[in-house]
Amino acid sequence: MAFDIDRHTRSEASARRLLEKYCWPDGQPVCPRCGSRKAYALAEGRLRCAGCRYTYRLLTGRFAGLAGLTARQWLRLAALFAAEETAHAMAAALDLAYNTAYKAATLIRLALLAESLDGLAVLRGHLGNDLGFSGKTLRPVPADAPLAAVPVFGILERGGMVFIDYLPDMTPEDLLHYNLHFSLPLSRLGAIVYSDRYQRYATLVTCGAEVLSRRFVEVAGRAPSVEPSRDGFWPYARERLARFHGVTARKFPLYLKELEFRYNHRNEDILPILLTNICSFVPDLA
Ligand SMILES: [Zn+2]
Repeated sequence: MAFDIDRHTRSEASARRLLEKYCWPDGQPVCPRCGSRKAYALAEGRLRCAGCRYTYRLLTGRFAGLAGLTARQWLRLAALFAAEETAHAMAAALDLAYNTAYKAATLIRLALLAESLDGLAVLRGHLGNDLGFSGKTLRPVPADAPLAAVPVFGILERGGMVFIDYLPDMTPEDLLHYNLHFSLPLSRLGAIVYSDRYQRYATLVTCGAEVLSRRFVEVAGRAPSVEPSRDGFWPYARERLARFHGVTARKFPLYLKELEFRYNHRNEDILPILLTNICSFVPDLA
């Protein structure tokens, strides 16, 4: 462990001091609205910006500010997330309602997505809407609400790092077309369909596409080239995706980007990185 989580979660005050280090690295408060470093302390942890007069708190405008958790709850929940615990286990360990733990875990995933290379492009498009994330709020979208479109991702691995590219110009219909007319092998993992090598990508992957749930052609004697591989990203992801029972089409991009992050930091303690991400400002998605 890079640091001793038990020590920092001993009290709300010690947990808050740690989060302050992530939010205000040089020790000075930062106004979420204008960036000014000058502020007056008000009662109950509130601050007033000397520049624009905005009243804010430690987590205002940051991913961690959207969940309604205490600093101590955030630290403990992030440690459980780092250990790949489920939202059910988080809720039980922290004595939180399941929905609260689930929402907090979703905020961690959104913060990871926002930090990834094409994360802002993903969040600004219809995928952001489909995730219920508007930048200032996170509203659960009813499970049966239709998706604007089912996205396709390309997975590329180079030098032990994986890159999961959102391919906005490609649709599940394209995958079916390549399968039917150009014999592109496809395979299935629950609602997830993935392909053989395509251009620069080791595999193309999508989840929950109606058009692919009905039909695609098994190419005799041929399977996607990622299928038999024993190391690299795909076996790592396949094992975890199989464990996320019934991953929904809506949440699939979040899980995939989470796996990209976990894989690329697989030899590190990710907790400090998670804390950096959840303490960062929510990007302006306008
Ligand atoms: Zn200000």
